[in-house]
Amino acid sequence: MSTDCIFCKIANGEIPSEKIFEDEEIIAFNDINPAAPKHMLIVPKEHIPTLNDLQERHVPLIGKMFATAKDLAKKTGISESGYRTIINCNGDSGQEVFHIHLHVLGGARLGRMG
Ligand code: 5GP
Ligand code: ZN
Repeated sequence: MSTDCIFCKIANGEIPSEKIFEDEEIIAFNDINPAAPKHMLIVPKEHIPTLNDLQERHVPLIGKMFATAKDLAKKTGISESGYRTIINCNGDSGQEVFHIHLHVLGGARLGRMG
């Protein structure tokens, strides 16, 4: 837990969120400023600032985040229409929250990236 991290505060319930899923390792909630009709964030409870900080021991956790993306896409009805998963890392990607998270976007035709 990082004391001034917004996603740590969401994970421990200090800041409210529209929660979609939670278990002992992961929390998923709707993005506060959605970039698509469906925009969810899948966040590990452990404070890992960026993808650059990923360690070998986190590999199963990252796999579980993608498995959760698949499950939540199905649950929210975008599995077949399609969706995009994104992890931003550092400045050029536009990363704003330095607690690793997987974006899941769908519900409309998404533009090309870049
Ligand atoms: P990044 O640019 O770091 O990859 O994405 C951060 C995302 O977190 C943004 O899409 C932003 O809208 C979202 N976000 C930032 N603060 C909050 C918050 O307090 N609650 C929720 N639900 N989403 C947030
Ligand atoms: Zn954090």
